[in-house]
Amino acid sequence: MHEVIFLEPVFKEMIWGGSRLSEEFGYDIPGDHTGECWAVSAHKNGDCLVRGGSFSGKHLSELWEKNRELFGGIAGDVFPLLVKIIDAKEDLSIQVHPDDAYAKEHENGSLGKTECWYILDCDKDAKIVIGHHAKSKEELKQMIEEGRFEDLIRVIPVKKGDFFQILPGTVHAIKGGTLILETQQNSDITYRLYDYGRLSDGKPRELHLEKSMDVIGCPHRDISADRTREQFAGAVKEHLVSCAYYTVDRLLINGGADFVMEEPFCIFSVVQGAGSIDGTEVRKGDHFILPAGYGKYCLSGEMELICSSVGK
Ligand code: ZN
Repeated sequence: MHEVIFLEPVFKEMIWGGSRLSEEFGYDIPGDHTGECWAVSAHKNGDCLVRGGSFSGKHLSELWEKNRELFGGIAGDVFPLLVKIIDAKEDLSIQVHPDDAYAKEHENGSLGKTECWYILDCDKDAKIVIGHHAKSKEELKQMIEEGRFEDLIRVIPVKKGDFFQILPGTVHAIKGGTLILETQQNSDITYRLYDYGRLSDGKPRELHLEKSMDVIGCPHRDISADRTREQFAGAVKEHLVSCAYYTVDRLLINGGADFVMEEPFCIFSVVQGAGSIDGTEVRKGDHFILPAGYGKYCLSGEMELICSSVGK
């Protein structure tokens, strides 16, 4: 039996969050500072429940543990991916993630974090932080020690539809007025480099300067996105990125088209419009998984989806 597995998101309140997850996606959010929707997650800090079907009420982590056949029997201690929608009303702190090797050694065997961002929407003059201006590790250390963060960080303009692959060791931050779909490795290890000198409950939030300096790559190198489009009758499939951890595509459905799943499983997030998957209605804000062996599927309607699977 190959049924579509729908998931219930988990929400996270953040000082920088807003209310667009309710206004634009219709989610029942916990408050007006909701920053993150963990849409497809088996992480212990936010483990999604299955909505409906034979696995209704089970956590995604439990399916991963006990029904590995749904995911093609692939190996791994934890479900490999985490998909979030992030509503940044205010700037997030400037951060960097370790790679698997560093996290394993310094974070109790945890995974590192490679992530990517698809910009769902943003203000007209929105910006993000990706990279830094230090030419060497020495210069990086000096700038950090002298507190010259504003000179250090690289701020670039961003627009709706942009896509960024963020490797471990890349200084990055989402700035206010941006709505993002993030696909990432299942990890929560973040080193905070700079928080614009802001106070939270009267105190600055903790920074992790030593670990940040350890993992930041010098000089910064941009990853150029290699976006390619495949035209179907009734749909366009745009490839966004492939790396060791995930493959991410964007699907624009205009009418409908048949596809064949060849990956061990596939995650889908409807980010615009409405339609159906094999006759089951879906709309903006729905997230679902097609399990292993699902094979041919039909998406119809007028909608945009971001889909991901494990890396190749
Ligand atoms: Zn990050």
